[in-house]
Amino acid sequence: MIPWRTSGIDRSARPAVAGWLGALSRAVDALVFPWSCAVCGAEGSGGAFCRSCREALRENAAKAAASACPRCALPAGPYADLRGGCGDCRGRSLGFEAAVALGPYEGALQDLCLRMKHDRDAWLAPWLSDLWAEARGEAIDRLDLPPDAWVVPVPLHWRRHWERGYNQAEALAHGLARRLGRPVRRPLRRVADTKKLAVMSATDRARALREAFRARENRAIKGRAILLVDDVLTTGATCGAAARALRKAGAGRVIVAVIARTGKTGQ
Ligand SMILES: [Zn+2]
Ligand SMILES: [Zn+2]
Repeated sequence: MIPWRTSGIDRSARPAVAGWLGALSRAVDALVFPWSCAVCGAEGSGGAFCRSCREALRENAAKAAASACPRCALPAGPYADLRGGCGDCRGRSLGFEAAVALGPYEGALQDLCLRMKHDRDAWLAPWLSDLWAEARGEAIDRLDLPPDAWVVPVPLHWRRHWERGYNQAEALAHGLARRLGRPVRRPLRRVADTKKLAVMSATDRARALREAFRARENRAIKGRAILLVDDVLTTGATCGAAARALRKAGAGRVIVAVIARTGKTGQ
């Protein structure tokens, strides 16, 4: 079971008191931070998303969940045979056991992922984590992620982290960890700066990534189940390489959680 919590986070942190004080605090929040929907711009949304955009995001997530490949999260269509994976991943080693995405990398979800790459829009991360937990939390139950599993963000190379000022995967990992009641741990290090990955072919990308991550070996990681968090899953090569580094250090099962999944590998 997932311990549901209210979605008041970071920007809207409020004192944990009931009744009028809570209402007063919300009113002050609304004055200090007048919310407008991050998708449609409607004012007075009371949070990152207005009610109808939030509903639309959840509906899309439910629709995507119903037809996504349970192994690589690729949108597979309603009548696809998904036993042992989809046509794209069946029989192929991914490095991780399964991937769960909030939805396909398109429309509002794509815009939100692009915005979240900049630290000025880091505040979106906990809201997207909340949506993920609400819409896809059942997948974590279904996959039977143990209570002592770690939530591990895919790290950026230090140079990239320094340039960008923050890592969106880490912001998402914190949001998910809070919602799923598991701790965030950072056993991974990105040792190669693989900046030009986007322009590489899938094969070159996999080769460049093979040695890109190292995981700290210690007793705590032995046999540990891990929820590996990133913003977007494209070819799966990044998460695959990170998962392999974790397994090499002794980790047990690795399940990937992402906000969005691109429709075709190699994109
Ligand atoms: Zn809206
Ligand atoms: Zn698949």
